[in-house]
Amino acid sequence: MHETGLSEAIVAAAVRRAAGRRVTGLRVRIGGHAIDPDVVTQGIQVAAAGTVVADSAVDLVLEPMTVQCHECGGSEPIRDHLAMVACPRCGGVDIEVSGNDDVVLESITVDSRTLGAV
Ligand SMILES: [Zn+2]
Repeated sequence: MHETGLSEAIVAAAVRRAAGRRVTGLRVRIGGHAIDPDVVTQGIQVAAAGTVVADSAVDLVLEPMTVQCHECGGSEPIRDHLAMVACPRCGGVDIEVSGNDDVVLESITVDSRTLGAV
């Protein structure tokens, strides 16, 4: 997964939705990908520099895909790429992966005090 491209896409979406208002907070839902939240948060802050999104609080909601194992019956969230090919519990390969890998900008918080300001 390419965290930089992801971060830039999130910032671009937030800037578009803010429509010129100053953004104080972002809530982003990231499904599927085994990502490093710190890297994504940092990437967003870097990409946001100089935009209305700069200095906003970033709230990442991670929704990992789950792996369902037919061998031990276990169901585990996927935390790394290895779990995509073998059950994290028993190492079995008779597994089914479910979930989606959508990245969604769930909401933005805008600074309403700037609305109507001179
Ligand atoms: Zn298993």
